[in-house]
Amino acid sequence: MGVESEPDTPETGPPAGSSIEPADAIGMDRAIQEARAAEQHGDVPIGAAIVRRGEVIAAGGNRRELDRDPTAHAEVIAIRAAAEALGGWRLPATTLYVTLEPCAMCAGAIVLARIPRVVFGAPDPKAGAAGSVMDLLDEPAMNHRPEVVGGFRAGECSALLTAFFATRR
Ligand SMILES: [Zn+2]
Repeated sequence: MGVESEPDTPETGPPAGSSIEPADAIGMDRAIQEARAAEQHGDVPIGAAIVRRGEVIAAGGNRRELDRDPTAHAEVIAIRAAAEALGGWRLPATTLYVTLEPCAMCAGAIVLARIPRVVFGAPDPKAGAAGSVMDLLDEPAMNHRPEVVGGFRAGECSALLTAFFATRR
């Protein structure tokens, strides 16, 4: 499907040097769905999904409060599930979608899993490790550097967070 085809070259939106592909809507739709589910158990609404050949193979939402686990970020949950689904720690030919820019831990996990492509929604000026605070995903010293597309459906993704924190004040 779309994953194998040449990427579109949209006239507006994504930053130069990166491109949104037709299948990206599938992955981000699922990530947003996971973010909404996280909110149901009182967690900050952040969701992730991993797509391979146009199909969602794993997904997860933030479970930090639910599991009382500081490492239970959406990306980590999704990466573990994808490794289980593929039967190995490497996740070749996958794209990871996440509603918020990955933190340092999750960026590290993305590198460890050798995920070739990452698409995130809202930037995270406080903890983002894909360009905001630091850029672990574009670090020449690292042995793996994924293609990164930031800001995909950022308005929708950050609206989830804004609404969540508004109800808590
Ligand atoms: Zn994280």
